[in-house]
Amino acid sequence: MTSTPPTRMLIRGATALTLAPGRPPYEKLDVLIEGGRIAAIGQDIPAGDAQVLDASGQLLLPGFVDTHRHSWQTGIRGVAADWSLMEYVRNIRMGYARAYRPEDVHASVLVGALEAIDAGITSMCDFCHIMNSPAHADAAVDAFSASGIRGILSYGFYDVPLEQPAFCSHAERLADAARMARTFASRPAGVMALGTALTEGGLVTSEQTAAEVKVSRDHGLRMTAHMGTLSTPDTVGRMNNAGLLGPDILHVHCNFSSDEELAQIRDSGGAVSVTPETELQMGMGFPVTGRLLRAGLRPSLGIDIVSDYSGDMFSQMRIALQTERALRNEPILRERKMPATVSPTVFDALQFATIDGAAAMGLAHEVGSIEVGKAADLITLRTDGLHYMPPAEPVAAAVLQARASDVCHVMVAGRLLKRDGRLVGWDLASLRARIGDSARHLRDTVASQPAVSTSTTSAYSSAIASIVDQH
Ligand SMILES: [Zn+2]
Repeated sequence: MTSTPPTRMLIRGATALTLAPGRPPYEKLDVLIEGGRIAAIGQDIPAGDAQVLDASGQLLLPGFVDTHRHSWQTGIRGVAADWSLMEYVRNIRMGYARAYRPEDVHASVLVGALEAIDAGITSMCDFCHIMNSPAHADAAVDAFSASGIRGILSYGFYDVPLEQPAFCSHAERLADAARMARTFASRPAGVMALGTALTEGGLVTSEQTAAEVKVSRDHGLRMTAHMGTLSTPDTVGRMNNAGLLGPDILHVHCNFSSDEELAQIRDSGGAVSVTPETELQMGMGFPVTGRLLRAGLRPSLGIDIVSDYSGDMFSQMRIALQTERALRNEPILRERKMPATVSPTVFDALQFATIDGAAAMGLAHEVGSIEVGKAADLITLRTDGLHYMPPAEPVAAAVLQARASDVCHVMVAGRLLKRDGRLVGWDLASLRARIGDSARHLRDTVASQPAVSTSTTSAYSSAIASIVDQH
């Protein structure tokens, strides 16, 4: 459903925030793209036979990198608006998740990825723990691929508590992930990769965690995992003690991970995704943005769930930045003093959302900054709204003034997925009808399905049920 990229394209007239080392925070630049890659950056580059994309007066940025999203929850948008983590686990992980058919997974992952593209996100790590059957897994891969977004579709090993499960053992689920890895490996290389999403420590045995890591590494799949929550705070340490940590693991949340555990992630070459809005709402603890910086790790940002709030990176940059500023200001205020300065900076927040996210996903050599040789994953922001009258300094504008509706052009590997404010190649009315039908099915099914009983579910569904029951 996406257009064929032109062989050569010239983006003309934008103010570029390149995020590239050694360059100023912003500068007037033209960007020449050849074969999906950035071939040249400079001023007044001759167009020659290149198609010219006029970005006069716009801001040009590397596409945002969302390091943690469950796009399968797009079809239940907003249901968690007033929920704690325990309500979320009970009502979604053990409730709505049981109602998903493969077509619901397809509709949610597709619309979720397109929503991300529309908001300027060009790379995503999609934590897909809705693999209720092989058909669910295939649907997720097909939908993610069809959207045109770059990133990792992470096969979730989590065992949704179904009445009639398609997988009768942990081993069968691992075998399905291996099946998918073999199938995926036979496809032509593109902007999408397959990964895995580990089951939370505490819900499976240490042997099962080791088996999930082994099948991932046997097939060269990068991993991601929810880590360091209050119910199982020491998951990083447990994996470290088992010799399982590595640069191929993207740890998510880590609110209750100790400083020693954050150092273990750093020493392993791993990375962390901070999802500030979920963590603040759901009682998961303060985002670890500042603790990561003090440990020598760069934070990346994730949107997590549109079953709760909006799917754009502007919101997460602001919440992460202002929460960390508040945390740093608090001890000064407690001494009845006023902070003389604030930190981190807006430029830090922009790095978290771009180049630091790319590094967290193992993609820093490809995307996350505007540099010659990198893939042309780029976005532009319009600056003709009232909120640019008068224009703010460009970095401050991109982080604290811009809105998702400002996103004008979006390209992945030089392919325009959004042009002049409209997604390319998609009929929004038919997408709306599809996701609407799916949302009705999910709502009606959940309204009539019985609650999960701890005595009738599998061992690790029982474990999660008992955690919920304690709260
Ligand atoms: Zn999550």
